[in-house]
Amino acid sequence: MKVGILGGTFDPIHIGHLIAASAVQEQLGLDSVVFMPAGEPWQKSERDISSGAQRLEMVKLAIAGDSRFQASDIEINRTGPTYAIDSVRQWQTEHPDDQIFWIVGSDALTGIPTWHEWEAFVSEATIVAVNRIGHDDSVPFKYVAVNMPEVRISATELRDRFTNDQDTRYLVPISVSEYISKQGLYRA
Ligand code: ATP
Ligand code: MG
Repeated sequence: MKVGILGGTFDPIHIGHLIAASAVQEQLGLDSVVFMPAGEPWQKSERDISSGAQRLEMVKLAIAGDSRFQASDIEINRTGPTYAIDSVRQWQTEHPDDQIFWIVGSDALTGIPTWHEWEAFVSEATIVAVNRIGHDDSVPFKYVAVNMPEVRISATELRDRFTNDQDTRYLVPISVSEYISKQGLYRA
């Protein structure tokens, strides 16, 4: 099986993540894309993040009804800092026949050389970057570029929108925004 993994904090998941996963699945002919919320995002520990259970639930709500997509709790169930290389190895151990495509946005792509054991990481998974065309000298490893309709939205901007009671209707699935208000996430 050709399996894409989209890692992230997903605090909250939004249409940028969903469009990216859809574009990669289609263009690379993947059997499935796994959304994998990070347990302890060690490069983001400066702010309070929603619990792993809450971020996983938002992912599940967002992907419900799309049979190409699944959610994985392997990172939120692991203790200590979340390293993508550990997730690749765990997935490969549990699914020895899978070929892993690790999906990143362009901001994450350029950050990979700061990741734990990044050289092993980029050799054990095929790196897929959305909206990066052709060769980029600043990226010291090979990756596959996939185009998607550009959506300049981030979870950071969405948290601000929820905090300020601004409209989010076309930026996150309605099931996710209902969950956010029920759980009282991102309140001032
Ligand atoms: P934050 O603002 O909290 O950093 P985020 O929106 O960047 O959140 P993450 O969970 O950090 O979301 O991102 C997970 C992955 O999704 C990363 O690889 C990131 O580059 C990618 N991504 C995030 N937003 C978009 C977007 N609008 N279009 C394409 N890829 C995106
Ligand atoms: Mg980000």
